[in-house]
Amino acid sequence: MLSKYLLTSLNQTRKKLDVTQQSASGGYVFAPPPQASLPVRGTTQRFPVHRIYCVGRNYAEHAIEMGHDPKREAPFFFQKNPDTLVPDGGKFPYPDRSTDVHHELELVVALARGGRNIAPKDAAACIFGYAVGLDMTRRDLQGEAKKLGRPWEVGKAFEQAAPCSAIEPASRIGHPAKGAVWLDVNGERRQTGDLSQLIWSVPEIIGHLSALFEPKPGDLIFTGTPAGVGPVKRGDRLHGGVEGVGELKIEVV
Ligand code: MN
Repeated sequence: MLSKYLLTSLNQTRKKLDVTQQSASGGYVFAPPPQASLPVRGTTQRFPVHRIYCVGRNYAEHAIEMGHDPKREAPFFFQKNPDTLVPDGGKFPYPDRSTDVHHELELVVALARGGRNIAPKDAAACIFGYAVGLDMTRRDLQGEAKKLGRPWEVGKAFEQAAPCSAIEPASRIGHPAKGAVWLDVNGERRQTGDLSQLIWSVPEIIGHLSALFEPKPGDLIFTGTPAGVGPVKRGDRLHGGVEGVGELKIEVV
């Protein structure tokens, strides 16, 4: 049995430890994770990322290649976690538990303001800028989830599932409504589309999103991918872009 002296001394040590941990983590029970962020092109400032929303099936030809009728569905949304970002491209580690990882090259919208029930005509005022993103997808796991009526996270929100370029401020590039959306794998064109082919335009997406959720400053919206999605393998070099916005490169490792 511990003596009274030993117990007292143990408790004092515990208290000291608590104080030390508290001051090391600013009042949290442990140090909070770093703020997810993206570079802003042309500045030394970074864009702090709050949430990542993604739009499903927003180009007719992609909806068709996935076996859906593009005309009959309102836009729908899923999320990735901010810490799945691979800022400004680089290495994309091939994820575990999948043998069918697909690329989806997309225009990304970065919000500086949010709100509920934002009218499409007011949407542009909420946008800080635009980027080029890859909605990397474990297609086999997503397919299983669809079949079983389960959520998509396992296919969409795995680690490093959201490579994204630096953000181009709208103050410099405006609000692109047309322009090529493309992706090359090892120098060969795989995805092609045009922003003018979006089933739901960016202002309409913000309108629908803000009717379902309350978008906040720092939120990103992946706006959907054009046709031509397909599998990647280790060693592949992906190079994609959105005309008027920028480009993104990743290497599958
Ligand atoms: Mn997508």
